[in-house]
Amino acid sequence: MKLIHAGHIIPVRPANVVWSDHCVVVDKDLVKGIIPFAEAVETWPEAEITELPDHVLIPGLINTHTHSPMTLLRGYADDLDLHVWLKDHIWPAEKKFVGPEFVADGTRLAVAEMIRSGVTCFNDMYFFPETTIDVCLDAGMRASVGIPIIDMETAWASDINSYVEKGLRLYDRMKAEPLISFTLSPHAPYTVSDEILNRISVLSAEHNFPVHMHVLETEWEIKQSQQQHNLHPLTRLEHAGLLDSRLLAVHMTQLSADDIVKLASAGVHVVHCPQSNLKLASGICPLTALVEAGVNVALGTDGAASNNDLDLLAEGQTAALLAKGISGDAEAVNAFEVIEMMTINGARALGLDDRVGSIEAGKQADLCALNMRSPETQPLHHVISQLVYAASTRQVSDVWVAGKQLLEGGELTTIDLDAVMESARKWHSRLAWLERQLVSEGKEQQSES
Ligand SMILES: [Zn+2]
Repeated sequence: MKLIHAGHIIPVRPANVVWSDHCVVVDKDLVKGIIPFAEAVETWPEAEITELPDHVLIPGLINTHTHSPMTLLRGYADDLDLHVWLKDHIWPAEKKFVGPEFVADGTRLAVAEMIRSGVTCFNDMYFFPETTIDVCLDAGMRASVGIPIIDMETAWASDINSYVEKGLRLYDRMKAEPLISFTLSPHAPYTVSDEILNRISVLSAEHNFPVHMHVLETEWEIKQSQQQHNLHPLTRLEHAGLLDSRLLAVHMTQLSADDIVKLASAGVHVVHCPQSNLKLASGICPLTALVEAGVNVALGTDGAASNNDLDLLAEGQTAALLAKGISGDAEAVNAFEVIEMMTINGARALGLDDRVGSIEAGKQADLCALNMRSPETQPLHHVISQLVYAASTRQVSDVWVAGKQLLEGGELTTIDLDAVMESARKWHSRLAWLERQLVSEGKEQQSES
């Protein structure tokens, strides 16, 4: 038995509660309860005790949308239009380098960054998911791993049949792993056909897979869909039977009032990635209207190539400020609602809310402690708002996943950070070489024309 005694505990469920002088009782991988510390010591005098007197203990954060290996492309091409960014920079780099080595090194870098910033579970969409799983299991990290689906040949699979077959084989092999869960992850409506959408719908119903997809990221996507299919992207998803409570629709910056009503009644989850949307000037997800309509909204960072970090706490702060700024209402999206979006709402979207997302008896001991004894968060008038509006990931000190401590006093316990930094340097050299090649090829083409 372990007792984690923190200055303050925000269990998230029940809502809006902050416990003082309490501890979280952890039995192996599970939370046994939150009880007054004095009572716990009396009941379990032999228990191992972790003292965190200046800290706030919260459920581990859930990054509900990312592409972890893309940390290697952080800062590789910035300040560009989304489609130019993808076509001229990101896709050529991925075409050249994406494989198990890229995915292993990028995921390890991402997992190191996420653990250090209090994230205990991430929902990933990328190629070579089997490698992502290996890295997560090595590090003790929880992940919801996407089976990638895109209507084009990539280094991982050649066509829709091979994407699905490889994905299902991986699922069969790994479904008993307690830290790993799966989604179907079609890239976006504009990169999959109607036939593929129908197939995804059948597979999702058959295996109860959540469907994790970029939807309505930009206005361009609606125009493209009208031109190619004579239909709005949401109508295509509706026709395929995908507009339901298994869908995690990421971005959603182009929503009408009618769309929001439809999403709410269908039980679709929205994953809001405000910093990526702002950086790529994609548009702004109408968070306040979605929350008012009763839509479950979770938060994601997106990949580090368009953010440029995996800092979910900063994402929460941006979400709150942006919602207030564009609605003209300072009461819109309060601090506790932001904490829910970073924890229990992500768990709900992923179908994991019986296991994670709050500190409750019977749930997994996925926990994050932040040291609030720092000038930035003093005086501690209101723990919940200080956490959302003033705290930063620099204050994350200790992190547990399934009861195992992955960060102790700011130090990673399962990842060799020096090795991660060395591999980042190696990829910097390789990517810089590629960028020089692309620039010289571009110059040659210009001189030929
Ligand atoms: Zn994304």
